Amino acid sequence: MMPDHPSSYENYKIKQNIERLEHKKSFNGATCLVTLYMPHGTSIPDVTQQLVDERGTAANIKSKQTGKAVIAALSSILNRLKQIKELPKNGLVIFCGMTQSGKVEYYPITPTEPITRKMYICDSRFHTEHLREQLEEKEQFGLMVLDRETASYALLRGNHLTFLRNLSSFVPGKHGKGGQSQRRIQRGTEILAQEHLKRAGEVANELFLNVPDLKGIVIGGPSLAKDNFVKGNFLDYRLQSKVIGTIDTGYTGEEGIRELMEKSTELLKDVRYLEEKKLVQKFLQELGKDSGLVTYGQKQVMKAMDLGAVDTLLISEEMDVIQVKIVCSNCGHKMQENVKAKDFVAFEDELYKRACPECGVQKLTIAETKDFVEELGKKAQETGTNIEIISIDTEEGMILFKSFGGLVAILRYPIRDM
Ligand SMILES: [Zn+2]
Repeated sequence: MMPDHPSSYENYKIKQNIERLEHKKSFNGATCLVTLYMPHGTSIPDVTQQLVDERGTAANIKSKQTGKAVIAALSSILNRLKQIKELPKNGLVIFCGMTQSGKVEYYPITPTEPITRKMYICDSRFHTEHLREQLEEKEQFGLMVLDRETASYALLRGNHLTFLRNLSSFVPGKHGKGGQSQRRIQRGTEILAQEHLKRAGEVANELFLNVPDLKGIVIGGPSLAKDNFVKGNFLDYRLQSKVIGTIDTGYTGEEGIRELMEKSTELLKDVRYLEEKKLVQKFLQELGKDSGLVTYGQKQVMKAMDLGAVDTLLISEEMDVIQVKIVCSNCGHKMQENVKAKDFVAFEDELYKRACPECGVQKLTIAETKDFVEELGKKAQETGTNIEIISIDTEEGMILFKSFGGLVAILRYPIRDM
């Protein structure tokens, strides 16, 4: 069964594709790159008609070169549309046009969430904003700023902040006249301060417990109150375990929340690292117990995949290599190179500037790419296997890559004698 939410792998791959698309420009800087968003219910005959009309208009474009490129892009899309009977349940986004490679490139992307708006854009770049927004909306964090008498709450999705509430309690200042009454006042003040933290916790529970897929909570503030709040377990245990850390801020209220957002970038990145560490640790534990519930090495992992026995596949980011077939469009010279997926954008830029080793002309283009991890991903989808891409930024990630060849599997049931 397919999970409701896109896996970290799907997000990772779609993010990669978006980055690649964002680096593409039209071959001559003019508007000839087509972006087409089609929600699930879109009528293919209607879109076809619209594109045929657009193609007719393109014949009037002043620059012959640009007009031809627009016509080529639209024709390419029209040809593909003929083969589509029904759109995927989340709709389909098509990017097509003559890029800096000098070729008409075609990229269909199936979004991870349903798209709702139908759009046709012809520009000098591809429009990926809506896909990017979808991705960023996945990860939600709770932000909370508090001091002795106030507390403010917000949700953070991508770079988008939503303020939820400001709370203020009256706690008198610490200064008194001295003597016995001062001690009494101090004691009273402390009780009120504790009451405030308790209330701040209750409001946090009320606001954050219902947020689906809350990834973590960051707590800020200018004083010790935030540390006392975390230490004092004022949050529901389900939220308490999501506290990523505390950060000193100069302000409270909405200003404090904004400051906290800016200061927590590094902290939020650590959340994924923590997940990655846990996944590799799980593998290492099972391996240590000799439970038969893990396997590693390309051959063994593939065998387990074929049996449908893999629950989670851990792949090192360093293994995410794309095999690129390159051809020179001047002399026809062919070659092949392996490029790390994360370096692909830079590789493409460099390739167009590189001279062909055979004829010396700058006409090298990408004829075909083969993405090992993406192929694994397709196989995994058929068998309901989760894929997690693990960076080498943690010690555990390094162990996965160096000691286990960057590819291991956590199994659903033990497989012996392989
Ligand atoms: Zn050549």
